[in-house]
Amino acid sequence: MSKTPFKNKVAAITGAASGIGLAVARKFSSEGASIALIDMDREALKQCENELRDSGCRVMGIVCDVTDQDNCTSAIEAVIQKFGGIDILVNNAGITQRSRFRDTKIEVFRRVMDVNFFGSLYCTKAAIGSLIKRRGMIIVNESVAGLTPLLGRTGYSASKHALHGLFTSLRCELRDEGVHVLIVCPGFIETNLQTRALGANGRVTDHPQSRLGKQATPESAAAAIYRAAVTKKHLLVLTWIGNVGYWISRFAPILYEKMMTKKLKDEIL
Ligand code: NAD
Repeated sequence: MSKTPFKNKVAAITGAASGIGLAVARKFSSEGASIALIDMDREALKQCENELRDSGCRVMGIVCDVTDQDNCTSAIEAVIQKFGGIDILVNNAGITQRSRFRDTKIEVFRRVMDVNFFGSLYCTKAAIGSLIKRRGMIIVNESVAGLTPLLGRTGYSASKHALHGLFTSLRCELRDEGVHVLIVCPGFIETNLQTRALGANGRVTDHPQSRLGKQATPESAAAAIYRAAVTKKHLLVLTWIGNVGYWISRFAPILYEKMMTKKLKDEIL
């Protein structure tokens, strides 16, 4: 196996102006990939683009709201036009919610679903032809909450479970086409996700988040994602607590529900 399998490959990364997406962009760029940064945060995107360009990366930044299908299609077309195609699509853009189900407006569920699920669907639909042509890879940033329940995040967990169904099924369709699907399920990582979490009314919540052990860094997540991409893993569960939660939930789901509820119940009171 080549030591730099992604050298001169093209990676398009959504939600690339912050947190895990930015760390993944830095990692793949340091391994020689050309990078398309896709994000709706224009200012942060410009800074990230300048940073990568200064480090010698072939990079383009595209302002795109992934909830808009036309925006996603144009963004992916722009990447293909500039770099000739896409080898790795990283569906990473996401938002979360922390609120009790009965208090939460339907609009909040819709918004979370639009960003997390439909954003990934639109980008994948637009990139699929190029990915098949180049026998590429789709990396989906789900969450442990895509494999297990998570108290106070009914909308978030539902969106991540939906992604899991979509991309495990798509993997079966794409296997013979040579396109690999890597599903990433992080536990808690220190990013802006929780500080931007929506509350029941749809505004950013100021209700504090419970801590479940030490949060991992986006850089450690990106390094693990890169290794998993190189070795073509199918599922990568990240963080110690994420792995403990995942395995308990598989073998003792009700025990997991009770333990997790006890830890997180302050969040929705
Ligand atoms: P983050 O808030 O630091 O980064 C998310 C990025 O997505 C931001 O740059 C934001 O501008 C972008 N984004 C949000 N809505 C968008 C939209 N409509 N269109 C385009 N871009 C949009 O958070 P993060 O933790 O780096 O999140 C990245 C992914 O990791 C998310 O899908 C999240 O669900 C997943 N994840 C994070 C954690 C964690 O603990 N941080 C755990 C599990 C899964």
